[in-house]
Parts: sequence; C-alpha cells; structure tokens
Amino acid sequence: MKGGEELAQLVLKNLYKRYDNQEKSLFRKKKPPNDYAVKDLSFSCYDGEFIGILGPSGCGKSTTLRMIAGLEAFTAGDAYIGDIRINDLKPKDRNIGLAFEDYALYPPLTVYENLAFNMRAKGKSNEEIKKAVDYVAPLLKVDDLLETKPPALSGGQKQRVNIARAIVRRPGLLLLDEPLSHLDGKMRQTLRHEIKRMHHEIKCTTIIVTHDQMEAMSLADRIVIMKDGELQQMGTPLEVYDNPTNEFVAGFIGEPPMNLLRSTIAAAGSGFLFTFADSDLRVEVPERYDSLIHHGMEITLGVRPVDVRVAKKETAGSFVPIAFYENLGDECRIGVRVGSMLLNMATPDAVYFERGQMVQLEFKAEKTHLFHPGTGERIR
Ligand code: ADP
Repeated sequence: MKGGEELAQLVLKNLYKRYDNQEKSLFRKKKPPNDYAVKDLSFSCYDGEFIGILGPSGCGKSTTLRMIAGLEAFTAGDAYIGDIRINDLKPKDRNIGLAFEDYALYPPLTVYENLAFNMRAKGKSNEEIKKAVDYVAPLLKVDDLLETKPPALSGGQKQRVNIARAIVRRPGLLLLDEPLSHLDGKMRQTLRHEIKRMHHEIKCTTIIVTHDQMEAMSLADRIVIMKDGELQQMGTPLEVYDNPTNEFVAGFIGEPPMNLLRSTIAAAGSGFLFTFADSDLRVEVPERYDSLIHHGMEITLGVRPVDVRVAKKETAGSFVPIAFYENLGDECRIGVRVGSMLLNMATPDAVYFERGQMVQLEFKAEKTHLFHPGTGERIR
C-alpha cells in the first residue's frame, strides 16, 4: 500500500463491448447492430473487497465478468489488476479463479482430483496440492466428499466443489457468475452464508454477478448496478437502498419495491403538498425540498412500502380506500388506491383491514425521494 491509501485491486476504465457475432447468438435477444453490450463502464474495487454486479437479465453483467476473466476481448477500454494492465493477458496469466452457474466438474474424477486438477496441470507437487485441498475443502464443507465423484453429488454440493476448485490455487481475484441460481431457496441461503464466511476467511477480492438483489445486498461490500450495459450506481448496500441515484435503482433495490408515484406539487401556506391525479390524497412535502420545487411542478415521489403507515390517529389528510390486504405471518402487506396508481405498504404489525375500507396514511417524511419524471434522475 502506498502512503496508507488502499490499493485498488481491480480497476476498469471506460470499458466497452460490442459483439461482432450477433447473428450467432441464436438463443439470445439480438441487440441492434452497433449497440454495446457494455458501455463506458468504469469502476474499481479494493484489495479484499466483495463486489456484487447486479442488474436485470441482458444488462451486461456476465459480459463484464467475462472481459475481466479474459474470455471476451475488449472493444475499448482498459482493465488493471494491481499495477498490471490485463487487456492482452491470457486468462491463465490473470491469476483469477472462476466459478460459473454450471458446474463443469469432471465426472470421472473424484472431488479431490477435481480440486487438484489445475494444480496438477501446473506441475505442483502432491504435498502442495494436498495442503491446498485440505485448507479449502472444510471452508466449503466438501471435506467429507473428497472421494465422491460428481454424478453422486447434489446441486448444492456440486456448486460447493465448483467454488472450492476456483479458490484452491488462492487466486488474486475470484469471479462468481450466478453461482446460486440453480439451487432451491433454502440451499441458496445456506450457500450464501458459506460464501460470505469463506470470503471472511480467505479475504480474496471477489466479484459476484447476480440478478438477485437479496444476494447482492447480503454478500457484497459494494454493489455495481447496471442497466442496458451502463453503470447506474455503485455503493454499499445501504447507500443504494437509502440514496438511489435514479428511479431504476430505486425500483430495483428493495422487496417489495419502492413505490414510484406521479405527483404534482401544490403550494399550501408556507410549504408545499404532494397531490395526485384523481385522488384527494395530500402529503406534506418535507421542508428540505422547498428550494428544489415549485408550485405546479411534476415529479415522481418515491417511498418504500415500509415507510408509509396506515395512520392510527386521525391526521390532517384525506382518506383512501384499501385495495388489498395480505397477512404473510411476519408482515402484512396493504395496498391503497391513489387515483389510478397503487401504493403498497408493508408493516410488521399485526393489523387487519377489509378491502374497500377508508384509511388515512402517514408518510415518513425523511424517507421520501424525489425523481425527475422525464429522466428518472434523483432531484437533489
Ligand atoms: P447478463 O449477464 O446481464 O444477463 P450478458 O452480459 O449475458 O447479460 O448480455 C448482455 C447483452 O449482450 C445481451 O443483449 C446479450 O444478448 C448480448 N450477448 C451476450 N453474449 C453474446 C454473444 N456471445 N454474442 C452476441 N451477443 C451476446
């Protein structure tokens, strides 16, 4: 480390990818010619950091990972690992461990030999290999499976072996592409915890690609959110949850997703109100927004379902009808109609409502977000 600053382990600078073989991508939605799968992507991660690349299917996550791994050429841009520019390095020279969604284990070989395979190919001694396997196998709980062959393993066990194989040579960078997406809910959660524990133990800089925001939120130190090949926001899970940079991030992070309501600002006394078409609902605009808005301005109001409550006491405000009510055991979900829009609420309190019942709402003022309705950018 230089001068006490953290050394960036991986740096991507203005990365672009355009596939030339569009016509060959029979099973993929074709992109228009000259369109980029990845556009002007720049980010860096620190030594030992766990990064999640998150976004909907087709947004360029795997392409980014494959470029870092050296499996796809760059159309433009640069990538560095430490001080080394890796653009022209072969995959095997990048000191990277890779685990993809499909396991690609060698069926005739035992788990031990699968883990040993690459080290053997590099001419490592039996002793070195045994030491490495003995270290990694318990980390991913495959130490009892070393003599088993892949066809006898469950999906979860195969993925553990797959990840163990990726880290057995202790790579500088570990790349995981949707490693949990084949697994059922409970197994996903267990393996998620184990990946996190493994990362704490070996502290290898890790990048996971996922379309599952829960996975990214729970595993990653920082999340890179992509859409249509472009970076939308990079931040800690809390930053992207609390301060989404645009409507896309606001709607993508959080379950149930943030409500995004079209609203017109109306001046009222010394302050302002959010008003909504075809609805009597009026919500006070927090004072901190006063300098950013004006009477008649169209905005999108973002508010998370947990940040609106059905008012217990009568507050100043109007009544709206309950559109649906669901009791999920540990939380209740309530929807109300605001004109033609639906506002979702989620509450841990055991409350009961009937469809059609008129209720008042309480918005947590400090948790409201304003977005520009044209660009979707946050109004700050
Ligand atoms: P994600 O991992 O986010 O689902 P991908 O990186 O796989 O997205 O794909 C990004 C875009 O590039 C998509 O439009 C996809 O159809 C296209 N693409 C991916 N691989 C190829 C390929 N080998 N040839 C042509 N187009 C591709």
